[in-house]
Amino acid sequence: MPGNLSFERLKELVKNGEVDTVIAALPDMQGRLMGKRFHAVHFVESAWEETHCCNYLLATDLEMHTVEGYAATSWQSGYGDYVMQPDMTTLRLVPWLEGTAMVLCDVLDHHTHEEIPHSPRAVLKKQIARLKELGFEAMTATELEFFIFEKSFDEVRKSGFSDLEPISGYNEDYHILQTTKEESVMRPLRNHLYAAGIPIENSKGEAEAGQEELNIRYGAALDCADDHTVAKHAAKEIGWQQGRAVSFLPKWHHDRVGSSSHVHQSLWKDGSNAFYDPDADLSMSELMRNYMAGLIKYAPEYTYFLAPYINSYKRFQKGTFAPTKTVWSVDNRTAGFRLCGDGTKAIRVECRIGGSDLNPYLAVAAQLAAGIKGIEEKMELASQTSGDVYEAQKADEIPQTLRAAMVTLDKSDMLRAAFGDAVVDHYVRAAEWEQEEFDRVVTDYEIARGFERA
Ligand code: ADP
Repeated sequence: MPGNLSFERLKELVKNGEVDTVIAALPDMQGRLMGKRFHAVHFVESAWEETHCCNYLLATDLEMHTVEGYAATSWQSGYGDYVMQPDMTTLRLVPWLEGTAMVLCDVLDHHTHEEIPHSPRAVLKKQIARLKELGFEAMTATELEFFIFEKSFDEVRKSGFSDLEPISGYNEDYHILQTTKEESVMRPLRNHLYAAGIPIENSKGEAEAGQEELNIRYGAALDCADDHTVAKHAAKEIGWQQGRAVSFLPKWHHDRVGSSSHVHQSLWKDGSNAFYDPDADLSMSELMRNYMAGLIKYAPEYTYFLAPYINSYKRFQKGTFAPTKTVWSVDNRTAGFRLCGDGTKAIRVECRIGGSDLNPYLAVAAQLAAGIKGIEEKMELASQTSGDVYEAQKADEIPQTLRAAMVTLDKSDMLRAAFGDAVVDHYVRAAEWEQEEFDRVVTDYEIARGFERA
């Protein structure tokens, strides 16, 4: 159910006054929604065809700095416009906001009307098209984990981020009693998203105080990334309506479990799962084995797209369910790649490396590119690693820091061939900037550790 609103139906709702506002938004490099709110009458009359935005929106950071060093745009080039072109298949109601609908936009060059290659939706569409050439459709699901805090975003900010008390007092993994106390946020989240055309499967408590997981039914990769983006936005907005901060920071405290975004993947042909072969070992088709071999081989090269900030790397710790090793294993939550649904038509691979801060378009695109390479080169899958993978001696590690992930991304011939040099260079610059800013800033940790004792 991608979107849930036809243009004709929107026009009726606008005419009878039920919708007065249409949000037109693009997913930015950080996976956030950026755009404008239209008066609905103006939207249905003209803006539905295209609107515009400053092109720094795909060259900025979380704090909206005008970051220097991007080839795509700069002060030098005058920070001109991009065209935002609504993808009308994503048109949906936003049931948690009064009288509001939303549409996601593609980002085009102002003059040529070509898609901007580093726009996250374009990056993913390119890999989906490559798979289509091979005769396959990618079906994916990205889990969303996050923390709900007692206070609102504004209260937390005003306390200098010191007043961080999760909404619950203990580990609530699968805990019905504790999660009942969080229903003021979670019930409207599930129901409003469902009504907005997002096929919610369930929510559940996770393995830390105040931590929830939201699961959306798998679907075509672009719908999956769109759904993830809208759902993450809704979680923050509905949390805000209830006076609670909902945070997707992967590691808000070093002693607490982190939040991830596991990515489930399968390739389909003619309406059925092409990873399933009932006669093969573990029912894994040769295609699946090749795809997984690529996924595993190139994991260090695309780790940046699963962990794009300094904080992302604080999550990768032994014994926390966040993986550190690039191996696969059957239904084993200590491995980077977990085989799920073996012996059934639901067979799929779950990549467990990604943090809750990943951009789903880029994360899925990078993994599809790695899998495609595995298929093209008929790569052989190594045997699985069993037991506690944290202790596996021979297994390769993912990069341990943003700096290391940035270097492997920069050197990735696979991603350069799949995405294009300009796109890889663009995201290497994004990584560099995050590192430069962190290197420049003096942290609370350094002050507390050294102020007197150094
Ligand atoms: P977990 O134990 O990791 O929470 P779940 O059974 O909840 O696993 O499934 C996680 C996700 O996997 C769900 O979003 C589901 O829709 C998705 N999924 C199920 N089958 C497939 C498939 N064939 N391809 C991709 N994702 C799938």
